[in-house]
Amino acid sequence: MSTAHPFVDLGEIEQARMAIAGTVRLTPVNLSPSLSDLIGQPVHLKLEHTQITGSFKLRGATNAVASLSDDEKRRGVAGVSTGNHGRGLAYAAKAAGVKCIICMSKLVPQAKIDGIRAQGAEVRIIGSSQDEAQEEVARLVAENGMAMIPPFDHRAVIAGQGTLGLELLEQVPDLATVLVPLSGGGLISGVAAALKARRPDIRVIGISMERGAAMHECLKAGKPIYVEELATLADSLGGGIGLDNQLTFAMTRDLVDDIVLVSEAEIAAAIRHIYWQERQIVEGSGAVGVAALLTGRIRSAGPVAAILSGGNIDMTQHFRIISGEDVDVTREAA
Ligand SMILES: *Cc1c(COP(=O)(O)O)cnc(C)c1O
Repeated sequence: MSTAHPFVDLGEIEQARMAIAGTVRLTPVNLSPSLSDLIGQPVHLKLEHTQITGSFKLRGATNAVASLSDDEKRRGVAGVSTGNHGRGLAYAAKAAGVKCIICMSKLVPQAKIDGIRAQGAEVRIIGSSQDEAQEEVARLVAENGMAMIPPFDHRAVIAGQGTLGLELLEQVPDLATVLVPLSGGGLISGVAAALKARRPDIRVIGISMERGAAMHECLKAGKPIYVEELATLADSLGGGIGLDNQLTFAMTRDLVDDIVLVSEAEIAAAIRHIYWQERQIVEGSGAVGVAALLTGRIRSAGPVAAILSGGNIDMTQHFRIISGEDVDVTREAA
């Protein structure tokens, strides 16, 4: 299959690194003795949940805002994300002195609204569905000339996420395998593009949840398809890849070596392990790499890195999970 769009390349990612350096934190890497013992290779955890705004999404959003023309910056940015992309975009825009409007439906929980507002964005509550919020963004784009910054299928966003790969390779130069939480594929496309350009032998493995693994289903189908979104502890990994996906489907298909799926119980076990053994607080989506390691399904001939991609978890839910309670979001959501 030919691709209309060339893949995001190392040059764009190196450029992104310079563009975001003043806004984004270089996050640390910790060696995990317990996970290293378990798989017989050094296991490094990339503590990206300690990123400003609580996830790597700040990298892509900051680079996307930096890539706008002066004229576009004057008109501002808009989006619909209530999650980590919304937080990252709000912070990135504020840091650049750019107006940001995030639209959401009145069904969005107050905590999420407050989270986005706290990063300095204007929140507009529109209608009672995500679609109506999306229509308002389309109106802001059409009538006010605002720029829509999508969460993953966008060159500057992918290049921004790729900076995490460059950083990781400097921190773990003998890296052999990297475990990357996978949803729309912005993070894994950027990280794989960076790593494979520098070290083609590094294995890049995407990790998704069993419930609603959109990219995995699309790759099996050979094209972007509709995949039903299901309640999961890895809520930041929910949602589709877009039926008119331009970049992340092809990049994931061509650059990623394997995809591993983890169950809800395995995600909960990983959140517990990361808290009690590694002393870190991560959200379900950030724990899937460790979940895959704990199942024993990851083999590597050399050092492994797992990206802890985010930390924005409801602390009551986190407390229940680490206390050993069987938190079944699939039942609670029904
Ligand atoms: C968005 C997100 C992901 C998945 O990133 P994609 O680029 O959509 O694949 C993983 N973890 C966290 C915490 C996220 O917010």
